[in-house]
Amino acid sequence: MKLSEQQRIFTRNIAKLIVFAYQHGLELTFGEAYRTNEQQLLYVQTGKSKTMNSNHLRRLAVDFNVFVNGNLTYDWATIKPLGDYWKTLHPLNRWGGDWNKNDIKDGFIDSPHFEMNV
Ligand SMILES: [Zn+2]
Repeated sequence: MKLSEQQRIFTRNIAKLIVFAYQHGLELTFGEAYRTNEQQLLYVQTGKSKTMNSNHLRRLAVDFNVFVNGNLTYDWATIKPLGDYWKTLHPLNRWGGDWNKNDIKDGFIDSPHFEMNV
């Protein structure tokens, strides 16, 4: 699959995720989607990220700010329904709340992060 084709599938599925969130009482604002190499390097150097292989660099990841009753939350259990739904949309989709269960076994959990792996 070409990267551009994958990016378009990712973006369409993000639209579905946003609709799903609002249907289930969660409101969203955008955090980061595309990230430059310079920004990613800064995050690695300051401990905000563990990798220079982030799918944000490929336009295949987005971080949302999740709100419940108007309050920002990073609570794993609150965001998990979004992660579960996200994974049903494409076999390559991964949720940052699962980071401790997949191939990145460093215990780093990133609940607001949704990506399509390459
Ligand atoms: Zn992210």
